[in-house]
Amino acid sequence: MILGLMQTSPLLVSGILRYAASAHGGREIVSRLIDEPIWRYNYEGLARRAAQAAHALARLGVKPGDRVTSLAWNTHRHLELFYAAPGLGAVLHTANPRLSDEQIVFTINHAASRVLLFDRNFADLVARLAPRLTSIETFVMLSDAERTHPAGVEAASYEALIAGEAGTFDWPTMDENAGAFLCYTSGTTGDPKGVLYSHRAVVLHAMAGGLASAFGLTAFDVVMPCSSLYHATAWGLPFTAPICGAKLVLPADKMDGASLHRLIQDEGVTFTGGVPTIWTMYLAYLEQTGERPVALKRVVIGGSAVPRAMAETFKTRYGVDVLQIWGMTETCPLGVIATPTPALAALGEDAMNEAIWTRQGRLQFGIELRVEAEDGSEAPRDGETSGALKVRGPWVVRRYYRKDEDAADVDGWFDTGDIATLDQNGFLRITDRQKDVIKSGGEWISSIDLENIAAGCPGVKIAAVVGVPHPKWEERPLLVIETHEGAAVAKADVLAFLEPRIVKWWTPDDVVFAPVPLTATGKIDKKVLREAWRSHLTG
Ligand code: ADP
Repeated sequence: MILGLMQTSPLLVSGILRYAASAHGGREIVSRLIDEPIWRYNYEGLARRAAQAAHALARLGVKPGDRVTSLAWNTHRHLELFYAAPGLGAVLHTANPRLSDEQIVFTINHAASRVLLFDRNFADLVARLAPRLTSIETFVMLSDAERTHPAGVEAASYEALIAGEAGTFDWPTMDENAGAFLCYTSGTTGDPKGVLYSHRAVVLHAMAGGLASAFGLTAFDVVMPCSSLYHATAWGLPFTAPICGAKLVLPADKMDGASLHRLIQDEGVTFTGGVPTIWTMYLAYLEQTGERPVALKRVVIGGSAVPRAMAETFKTRYGVDVLQIWGMTETCPLGVIATPTPALAALGEDAMNEAIWTRQGRLQFGIELRVEAEDGSEAPRDGETSGALKVRGPWVVRRYYRKDEDAADVDGWFDTGDIATLDQNGFLRITDRQKDVIKSGGEWISSIDLENIAAGCPGVKIAAVVGVPHPKWEERPLLVIETHEGAAVAKADVLAFLEPRIVKWWTPDDVVFAPVPLTATGKIDKKVLREAWRSHLTG
């Protein structure tokens, strides 16, 4: 081997900020806030206030390697922390407010965070948790001095804290493998697990996200992340947008259809993204009001399977392309993205749309995929043979935070817990999570496929399928449906809708109408559903 003779400048989050401020300094950032007027500044302003925040954190005693926790929505102040904490060498733990009290306390104590910075409307939550937070020394409310009210804990005002600080910071050069963000999985089984993203992983992931074969962002785009900043760094958009020079629009906690539509229209949003539930609400809003998004071109959707009907409605009614992504907290989170290829385009628009609307995405440079059969051999890439999905790459977890053993095997393969197929074009299709698979008479039924089809039935808002114990077949599918407000849908309508679209033995043994519980990350909570309906077929 002979070493290359190029420079080895580390890939650091602060490098993104420095670049955006110098190359796209005037490009706007717009943020809704909890109960303050809309905030406007630009990348230059972000660099200035992130520097002030870094000085303030340092003054509070935060040193490289320390953890600080945010409990916050998608706002410019949260964005500033995304750069301030990792920039100075600390780690930002983005706590997920949708977890249970116990789990939030667990994650903050597990992270051993020294500072907790929280949005105003989490004041009661923080007051409730504070006595159990063993490592927090300073509480900071992300608010101006006038609006910071006593929260049951003594909290400083973020604005007062940063006000007198210098607007430049000598961002240190450090090892690109240093930890930058600590994101916890939602812990559907056991305690949440911490995934510690390195600067290198964050920067490579953000660069890959911007590629034309991925999000394809340019300086003309206006990007509004509706995936939460606290959940796997909002799919890296707070980094990809500045790298591409895109305008950034932050919706705070207002994810209802009317609020999102207002921002989309007023700010000229061209690109947005979030979990399917948000877009179900948004499409219902457009339908009810007859409004149409003007500039919107692409919506990236992931976190759980995108119903085909959702992608089709966006495209055929509003001319908006849906890019489905698959990923997880352990993959930073981007794994695959469903974008077209010449081979698909050659098949014609309908066939291409069909392929894209029914698959999670395509192999991206940086993430290797392997579908493994039960005997450990690699399953053929035929789009039919399913198996355990494993991944590896520079933004895939190696070991969970404070665990003694690696989460990936010796060759780097991390078992995602998903069941999938891969086809000859490199398209991935998730058929289930290992723990959600329905085993009926020894055969597998894909709950995701059934949900996807049932979601297309008129009047259905959310369709959830779980396997419930059955005396003869071991398990059979039960379909739980939450309808749109005011929609009258009967069991017979749903079964008639499914009949021509599925093989007979997949037909759910029953269809029930009930609210569908969601997890902290917006996915159907199958554990709760299975528990609630477990004796439905056995009596
Ligand atoms: P959690 O903390 O709930 O595990 P993650 O966001 O890490 O939150 O969840 C990752 C899981 O979400 C994946 O393993 C997969 O099961 C599911 N998932 C993500 N995107 C998709 C998608 N497009 N289609 C189907 N399932 C998806």
